[in-house]
Amino acid sequence: MHTNSTIELSLSALKKNLSFLKRTFGREVRISSVVKGNAYGHGIREFVRMASRCGIDHFSVFDSNEARKVREVAGKNTEIMIMGFVENESLAWAVANDVSFFVFEKDRLQKAVRVAKKLGKKACIHVEVETGMNRTGFDLREIPGVIRYIQKEKDHLQLKGLCTHYAGAESVANYYRVTEQIKVFKKVHSLFIKEGLRPEIRHTACSAAAMVYPETRMDMVRIGIMQYGLWPSPETFVSLLNRRKAKTDPLRRVIAWKSKVMSIKKIRAGDFIGYGTHFMAKQKMKIAVVPIGYSHGYSRSLSNQGRVLIHGHRCVVVGSVGMNMMIVDVSVITDLKKGDEVVMIGAQEQDDMTVASFSDYSDQLNYELLARLSRDIPRKIVD
Ligand SMILES: *Cc1c(COP(=O)(O)O)cnc(C)c1O
Repeated sequence: MHTNSTIELSLSALKKNLSFLKRTFGREVRISSVVKGNAYGHGIREFVRMASRCGIDHFSVFDSNEARKVREVAGKNTEIMIMGFVENESLAWAVANDVSFFVFEKDRLQKAVRVAKKLGKKACIHVEVETGMNRTGFDLREIPGVIRYIQKEKDHLQLKGLCTHYAGAESVANYYRVTEQIKVFKKVHSLFIKEGLRPEIRHTACSAAAMVYPETRMDMVRIGIMQYGLWPSPETFVSLLNRRKAKTDPLRRVIAWKSKVMSIKKIRAGDFIGYGTHFMAKQKMKIAVVPIGYSHGYSRSLSNQGRVLIHGHRCVVVGSVGMNMMIVDVSVITDLKKGDEVVMIGAQEQDDMTVASFSDYSDQLNYELLARLSRDIPRKIVD
């Protein structure tokens, strides 16, 4: 186990985020908690436990491997939905364990039926519609065939849902494309209804769509980034502020990432610090070594740019981020000791290091930085 750093997960922050989301979407809209990518780096098992304690009983994952992890820790009545990849070998496991999955190809539909027949149990499916993202989903012209097939095999299939995914609801630049997608989705839904096949639920929205396009909420929303207390984009946050009287952020970041000073050194003016010539000291400096590097998820693109909090000061990363270590400028801190706290993400004294401020320096999205956090870092649930 890695002992160089710790990830803390705040239960009260999660509670606050979920209650804001519930209040915004209303009682009729169910929330599916999206926990793909190791729960956006938070740690899938720990996060599912926390969310379950907050009343979440529906989780969305990308693949069967993640679904198994959720199954291990979630309660019996919790629903699990695979939005992406299920290898043929895991289809039977999914059907046997009441795990539902997206179908977006005829082949997947036929395999689901074959497995269901073999197990004598219906496969729970969500028909994914291609509405304009051009990634996965049935095209409009395939829909009549899909409807006929599901009707023919209704003893082996349970049509849990009809769904789609929007191609960039977090940016107003995609407004036209997203509104066209909504139209296509509604058209496909009415085709199903006309043929007498009613999906149990319709779900299309991720965080951004659910906030910016209320009509996409339908019966259920699939919420990832916002439950973790982060916005899909600055634009999404601004669009909320424009509609609200209170100009404060209703979300609280769930994650904090902390380490400790490993060693301290004094440097003479003119010396290079770290590998090669990435950083030369212009004057006398004091530096601290932090046992965190890109193998733990602190991106190398933060070399000479990243900031961490030590004694409440923002200290700059100097030189290149190594595999296991990085060096920060602590010249302003007079009473620094080995073992003092270093905050990569989170609050310290009066200051706060957000995931966004960390990514602004490197053009990486919140999503990517979080997902890169190493699985080996211990996760601790706090308050
Ligand atoms: C990741 C994902 C979501 C959640 O997106 P957020 O922007 O994190 O809310 C929803 N639906 C699908 C299909 C996804 O892959």
